[in-house]
Parts: sequence; structure tokens; C-alpha cells
Amino acid sequence: VRSALASAVKVAAAAADRVRPPARGAVVLIYHRVGRRSATPVDLPTDLFRRQVEWIAASARATTLDAALEVVAGSPGPVPAPDPLVVTFDDGTADFAEVALPVLAEHGVPATLYLATDHVERSVPFPNDGQPLSWPAVRDALSTGLVTVGSHTHCHHLLDRTPVDEVAADLDHSIGLIAERCGTAARHFAYPKGLLGSPEAEAAVRARFRSAALGGTRPNPYGRTDPHRLARSPVQVSDGMRWFEHKAKGGLGLEDLARGYAARYRYASATR
Ligand SMILES: [Zn+2]
Repeated sequence: VRSALASAVKVAAAAADRVRPPARGAVVLIYHRVGRRSATPVDLPTDLFRRQVEWIAASARATTLDAALEVVAGSPGPVPAPDPLVVTFDDGTADFAEVALPVLAEHGVPATLYLATDHVERSVPFPNDGQPLSWPAVRDALSTGLVTVGSHTHCHHLLDRTPVDEVAADLDHSIGLIAERCGTAARHFAYPKGLLGSPEAEAAVRARFRSAALGGTRPNPYGRTDPHRLARSPVQVSDGMRWFEHKAKGGLGLEDLARGYAARYRYASATR
């Protein structure tokens, strides 16, 4: 029933896009896992991921997050053609290095990897059998020149419900570990679950990072995007190629609206 509902939502969202096409802008995709080592709806089969990366490479839209920020958050300039497409991965699970990165590297597609550093530092598994990356694997990923490492908090706290002094300490801990273990500055941030923090938490994020990413399933319009409220489009197994292509073109925003309602119940009592 849930998958029938999910596909009905995608069909409705695509119909809504035909009535009101998405704005032009940079599209940022959220991936979580690749390789089907778990049953979560965001753990893609390797073959599907490979086809998506081939599609991204063929589109000639693959862009680093930093380059995309120049055109969406910088002063308005000429509109790029085609629209930039940015690949991001949340959490920092081992499959990123073992399964996803070889495919990205084969096609020269850059990616931003947002790490929940406590999991990497202490080898704390993520929910749904998510084995964390090791620091040596993160350093190897950086050495490809294709990967940008950002922060996804230290403890994966949901920042709309964490006291602000804890938020600040958590962010600083995460930034410090990335600097120490990788020798690189974490200049980009992704909110856990794509949920915006409280106003105080958001201020702490703005003070520390060049950009901050949410969910939202919509493009980031040129010259008028708040770099600390970047919209991203999550890729799920059920997207296959058909709905993936819609999302990569900035569509299916209505799906996010439906997900937002569901998440409000799902995460009502969660803290991380
Ligand atoms: Zn996460």
C-alpha cells in the first residue's frame, strides 16, 4: 500500500510540474547509500546508481557544490546552460567509498560527502545497518580530487530541538575532527533529516559554514538563493530512472510536500 501511495504521489507531482514547471536553477541531489546492504528506501541498487551517474555524466551538468554556489548565491550573472547538478551524500557510510565512489570516479562526477563525525570517529553504526566510513577511507576519497567533505553535525542531532549551546559545541566538534583527521576545512553543512534548525541553531550554522543544505525537492534559483537554505532532492530506490530524471530536472516538488506531512509525524519525538 505504501509503495502504491508513493508512486501515486510521484505521478501527481509530475502532473503538477507540467501545470507549473519548476524554476531554472541548480539542482542538488541527496543520496544516502548504494549497494543494497540494507532494506531502507534510500539504499540504491548499484546498477541503478550506475545508470543515474551515467545519465548525470551524459547531461554535462555535473558540478561541484562550490561552483554551483557561485551561480545561485553570487551576484546575478548570465544564466548557465545547462543547469548545474550537484551530487551529495549524507551520513558517511562505508558503501560511499566501497561502492559509490568508484562509479562516480569512473564518470568524473564530483560529490559532496556530509559526515556525522561521531559515527566515523567512534565507528558508531548508523540506523538500518549503516556501517560508518573510516577516516583513512575518507582521506582516500579526498585524494581522488572529486570529493568535498562537509559536516552533518557530530552526533546527527535534529537541530530544531537541540539546545543551542549543545548545537554550537556539536558543530565545533565536527569541524575540528574533519580538520584534524583530513586536514581540510568543513565549509559546507547538511541538516540531519534535511530539517531546518531553530533560529538560534540556524544562526550557529550560518556563523560556521559557507553553505547549509535542507530537503525541499526543488531547484535553487540563480542569483537569489540563500546559500544557508539550499534545497535538495532526495533520491530513493522507488525513483528508478524515470522519477530520478524528473528530480534531476528540478521536478517532483509536490512529493516533498507529502513527505513533509509524513515526517512531521515520524520525527515528532525523535532527537537524532
Ligand atoms: Zn543523515
